[in-house]
Amino acid sequence: MGADEDSRWMRLAIEKAVERGRDPALSPIGAVIVRDGAAIAVERNHTEEQCDPTAHAEIAAIRAAGAAIGDMELRGATLYSTLQPCGMCTMAAIWSKVGRVVYGAGRDDVHRMYFEDRHIDTLSFIRDAWRDDIVFEGGLLRAECAALYYGPEDSVPAEEQGNI
Ligand SMILES: [Zn+2]
Repeated sequence: MGADEDSRWMRLAIEKAVERGRDPALSPIGAVIVRDGAAIAVERNHTEEQCDPTAHAEIAAIRAAGAAIGDMELRGATLYSTLQPCGMCTMAAIWSKVGRVVYGAGRDDVHRMYFEDRHIDTLSFIRDAWRDDIVFEGGLLRAECAALYYGPEDSVPAEEQGNI
């Protein structure tokens, strides 16, 4: 899959992320799953609307993709996410059997409120997985994706911070 193709899918993820608005307090995270050149899932974060802390964009996309193809294994698929997947979503990606995960902004590009732990490197989940055929790549359209979120140095009111 070429860089242009990757950018096209990431732009679709960004478009989905801001469906409810561009307020960084809404955690506008989008995820797209592509297989054989077609999007089989286009989802965004639904945690607040569904009162479900597991309704992250990537989890929603993995569920939708499985339902779309009638198979719980997403082998050969690529998962695009506007933000580096959290620990839960990284593990879900491993379990889903996607072949590749491509994300936009990395955790150091955004405020710490978007992550659940202080310093665990979730990329080590991939390095330590039994699977040796899953690839994680970050930084695609990094600036455009990071612009969706509060920056690392932004002062965010405590009541807006989902992780404290
Ligand atoms: Zn997540």
